[in-house]
Amino acid sequence: MSDTGYSPSRREARSRALRRRKLTIGIAAGAVALLLVGGGTAWAISAAQPQAAPPKVAPAVNPKPTPSPTLTPEPTPEPAPAPVYDLDSPSSITVVVNKQRPMNPIDWAPDDLVMPEGIPNVWGHPIRAEAAAALQQMYAAASDAGVPFTITSGYREYWLQKEIYDGLVAQGGVEFADRDTARPGYSEHQTGLTVDLYGNEGCQLAACFGETATGTWLRDNAYRFGYILRYHDGQQATVGYTYEPWHFRYVGVDVATAMHDQGVLNLEDFFGLPPAPTN
Ligand SMILES: [Zn+2]
Repeated sequence: MSDTGYSPSRREARSRALRRRKLTIGIAAGAVALLLVGGGTAWAISAAQPQAAPPKVAPAVNPKPTPSPTLTPEPTPEPAPAPVYDLDSPSSITVVVNKQRPMNPIDWAPDDLVMPEGIPNVWGHPIRAEAAAALQQMYAAASDAGVPFTITSGYREYWLQKEIYDGLVAQGGVEFADRDTARPGYSEHQTGLTVDLYGNEGCQLAACFGETATGTWLRDNAYRFGYILRYHDGQQATVGYTYEPWHFRYVGVDVATAMHDQGVLNLEDFFGLPPAPTN
């Protein structure tokens, strides 16, 4: 066997293998070094964090410190202010007039009377402007529903009421007069906020009006226009009058709707006033 076994190519191969080994060792050493360095770096970060982090959350550095929940008062919802109703002033749309509560002054007269437009009005009685505007809307709706109505009584001044009442006293005595007619100064018609209505079905100023299509529609819908049926059936002990399904009083949409929604039948109960059954 000759030495030719050690051909240059073989030597080369051995030398390549040797270089490869050195290289492998070198890479391995580098990796260890990297690991050490990496570990060291990792430690350095974790060690540095506790010192580096606090300034970020320190209140002094934070320009807008979040207020502590314990210092913030609970946002209590503001209660809706209770409506204040004027039950006494004669010009108030919520004035309550009954057999215990006369107009004050007794011969008070409104200064904003107008004639409701476009509504049949037997005696041409005016009513107060706000009540007239609402009545016109109610008339339009009633007409659309096929139950247009006629006004048979509106504002009645003190002196007219006195004339009517005195005439009845002369005719049948005080008890007789008091039965169906308000004493002068005690009539809701003097407020200028009240109307007596009737339809085309008869029953004018009679209890049966409540059973007619017009009477039924008015009783069910008047509140939408701010009117209430003032003297309901069975309420005489509180309101002082027998059933008057034709007598509607303007009180404004808020009160009328509240009464409707709560099922309250008269102003005395709604406002917590004492009943007013007698003179
Ligand atoms: Zn009336």
